[in-house]
Amino acid sequence: MSDIPELDTIYTEYHPSSGLAPKITPLEDHNHKSFPSLVPETHPWEPFQTRIDFEALELAMEIGLNKKQLSCYIALLHRVQNRGTDSNEEDKFTFKIKIIHHQYGKEPTPHNQSTNVEEPHCLETPKETTDGQERLGNVFMMSHGQGMLPSHAPNDSKLISFILYADKSKLSSFGSAMGHLIIARLGNLPVEIRNTDGILGGGCIVGWLPIIKEESSETGKTGFVNFKNAVYHEAFKAFLENIVLYSHIGSNTKCGDGQYRVLWPFVLILSANYEEFMTMALLRGLKSNFPCPICLVPRDSQWDLSQSFPLRTENDTKNLLIKAMNEKNLEKRDKILKERSIRPIENAFWSINLTDIHLAISYDCLHSDDNSLWEDHFFPLFKLLIKDIGRKSTVAVDNCFSLVPRWSSLNHFESDVVMNLPTYWKDVIMLTHFHLPGYTLMYADFNLHTDVTLSMAEAELNQKFHPTLLQYLTFIEAPEIKTRPEPANVAADQQSHSQSANPQKSWNFPKIHLRKHLFRDIREKGVTRNYSTKPNEKMHGPIRKIYLRRTNFKDFDDQILEANHHISVAGIIRSKIDMLDSYIASRTNEDLTGESVAYDQTETNDSEISHEAGINPFTIDPQFTDYRKLASPKPTSTLNSFEASYQSTPAFQSFGEKLSKFLRQFLPQCGIPLPQRNFKLAPLDEITEYQYLQVTYTCSADWVLKTDHLRCNPKFFGHPRYDSVVINGNPDIFFAQLLTLFTITVNGTTLSLAYVQPYEPLYRLANRAVSDTELELLRLRKKPSKDAMFISVYSIIRGAVLIPLSGDSTGGAEKT
Ligand SMILES: [Zn+2]
Repeated sequence: MSDIPELDTIYTEYHPSSGLAPKITPLEDHNHKSFPSLVPETHPWEPFQTRIDFEALELAMEIGLNKKQLSCYIALLHRVQNRGTDSNEEDKFTFKIKIIHHQYGKEPTPHNQSTNVEEPHCLETPKETTDGQERLGNVFMMSHGQGMLPSHAPNDSKLISFILYADKSKLSSFGSAMGHLIIARLGNLPVEIRNTDGILGGGCIVGWLPIIKEESSETGKTGFVNFKNAVYHEAFKAFLENIVLYSHIGSNTKCGDGQYRVLWPFVLILSANYEEFMTMALLRGLKSNFPCPICLVPRDSQWDLSQSFPLRTENDTKNLLIKAMNEKNLEKRDKILKERSIRPIENAFWSINLTDIHLAISYDCLHSDDNSLWEDHFFPLFKLLIKDIGRKSTVAVDNCFSLVPRWSSLNHFESDVVMNLPTYWKDVIMLTHFHLPGYTLMYADFNLHTDVTLSMAEAELNQKFHPTLLQYLTFIEAPEIKTRPEPANVAADQQSHSQSANPQKSWNFPKIHLRKHLFRDIREKGVTRNYSTKPNEKMHGPIRKIYLRRTNFKDFDDQILEANHHISVAGIIRSKIDMLDSYIASRTNEDLTGESVAYDQTETNDSEISHEAGINPFTIDPQFTDYRKLASPKPTSTLNSFEASYQSTPAFQSFGEKLSKFLRQFLPQCGIPLPQRNFKLAPLDEITEYQYLQVTYTCSADWVLKTDHLRCNPKFFGHPRYDSVVINGNPDIFFAQLLTLFTITVNGTTLSLAYVQPYEPLYRLANRAVSDTELELLRLRKKPSKDAMFISVYSIIRGAVLIPLSGDSTGGAEKT
């Protein structure tokens, strides 16, 4: 990696077995994807006779008509059209019932299970396979690659990675009706496509696991729990058998580009909550001696993130199970199984080649962070502390939050902030720098990681999170650490505080320990959104809707799957119709314009740009003009009346004079000739004010284009809103608040400008207060009104939320 090219380029190094040479691409090409221009089918609504037939049925499904209503609706259509339809819909997805037998006690108990036997429909053109270790710059992507292929795999082999999710879903509000879904996604597809719930490459419900009726007399009995686990794995095995063979011998498949390749399916990622993972890995549960599905952490050491333990492997588990099952003495057998807290059952995932269940199990931010660490642990503690201090403190917290400026992607808190915290915790962390949980949780949720951010995240966990947690547990005299020596830095008077601060919540729980494996997951399987349960949990909603609207609430499994199947087929037909429509529209456009307009790329030479002015140079590359857009104009006025309207605002004193002075310096830098040597604006020159600025920029956190919607409006939804911005100044960037946005035309050129009130750092970084350094706060102070200045809107990098200090009327602000 010593020959990594300069900044803003991406160096991609492939796995040696792929035979591909390393390549360097410009950063702007990141995420650019080209798709082959395919000629769509001419009758995509088939097997429906006409497009109207299909669209009538599509509408009926959207409304969610049940069978009886659907019959009436179709009969009505027939009467209107005076003709019949005969839709022999050919199934693309077919759910089949598979009877499996597993004996519990004396009676053999059959269970129905549905599996989808469709070939994954999104196998077309796997353009982005996980070829080797792909690094984007210093970014780690999935390191699973061609190197994983078996030695006998032919040269044209490609790995097809599946991401499987499974969880129970409450179908009715009272939870009496349940479904157990399996959702599959294709790891090879880009995450933007894969994480949708649409038909075109998104997640699909591919299986429906049995839910075993449980007599209360059986609840908790080891034998019955083992029986439930065995049925789960039998059922899962039946579902997996569609790919088991191909995972061993490969499948010669014609891909979307017409080429034949040998595809090797395997399970790269399992996405689920902790309880489901325990069933998937066939472990004995929360209270067992070794409750982690990935490593052998003893139950009592889960809170201790400073320690590492041996990782579980499929081979070790298999060998231990064989050893146990060969032991005739049941007591001895149980003792062997308890060495790893495993159950005496064969794991269904062992049947798939190239897959290790313990490696596939992945960190889930939703269950480990949002619901667990934050909602169950930090939030109750925070609430307790606020309550402990008294009502005044609740009001103070509310006041602080209400001072936060309104922002398009931020929830604005007016009151009851403490009560709203569970829902809006990410906003709260951003605003408060809630240090202990904040950064650790935020790092886990990043959509792009570099080796720098990963090492920062690891340092946060190991050097801040764990020591602070240890300090806290010592302070409250938590039972978890009673055996550990007391740290020297804990205050001697801890005894008096311990009772009131202890929320009686155990901090020794599996989800706190699972973050121990977060960084390995990111290195092996990419960032956490690749294995998040969030997109899958969203798919429970439509299933509940089907249950409520389209079933008779009896034997509903089949009815739900049938309705889901119809929706999937309709989705595929709809996508083909849309493709045909846009194809026809594009052809019509081309016919009208003659041919598509060639894109004119103008080369700019940055070195020719002057850096002498007080603000950053102003050269607009035509391809970037769309990235700063002014909108919501006020009626055009003369400079004279504009100044009169701001007469009482100190920053606008001598506005015209200052603007003339600015333009005398600014116009020559832009290559616009001054009308005359001592150019000065006339009172009747026209100026148009705007109340909105759209700024699109490349976000350095994940390298994708993002848009800020900036307001400069005295009454935006009833409140004055003047957003703050980050400006590309010379020599340094600086913060400022927008005072007005306007255009003015000089010498035939219309200039888009902003008048801003700059901020300056309250003190040099070297003199930052310790608390500010720890919380990574930057304190700013608004400069006097006379220092208000003009800038081009093109020098605005992005918007910024600056939070006023509580009780500070001097314009001091903290940067978030
Ligand atoms: Zn572990």
